[in-house]
Amino acid sequence: MKKKMTSRRELLKNTAFSGAALAAASLITSCTKSEEKPAAQADDPAAATDAPAAADLPYVDPASNKAKALRYVEKASDAPADSRGDKGETKGSEQFCHNCQFYSEDNGEGGKCALFPGKLVKNEGWCVSWSLKAQS
Ligand code: SF4
Repeated sequence: MKKKMTSRRELLKNTAFSGAALAAASLITSCTKSEEKPAAQADDPAAATDAPAAADLPYVDPASNKAKALRYVEKASDAPADSRGDKGETKGSEQFCHNCQFYSEDNGEGGKCALFPGKLVKNEGWCVSWSLKAQS
């Protein structure tokens, strides 16, 4: 009986696919969790008090490794011109945390960002992961 050998090409292809699937699953999980929270809070009023309000959270330190990796800036106009380029029909100059799909619970100065759990970002901030919030 002949045993089938996995070629290096197949192995690399499968590894790349697994990595992409994990990244997608992680994104979906984070999105699902943020969408599920209000329903869970509605069922259990005590849970609503356990979740820290946006006002109670610290702001992201722009000097932190994660913030630097995402090129996060507290003032979008401070982003390097070569990194805040147009995305789709949205000009770079129109991209801010407050109109990003990962942003929520604006407190007037900042809000939560799904990419920085437990922290706040400035509503006039920006990072390379900016993506236009869906219009309702
Ligand atoms: Fe701001 Fe969006 Fe980047 Fe979060 S993902 S820091 S909300 S631009």
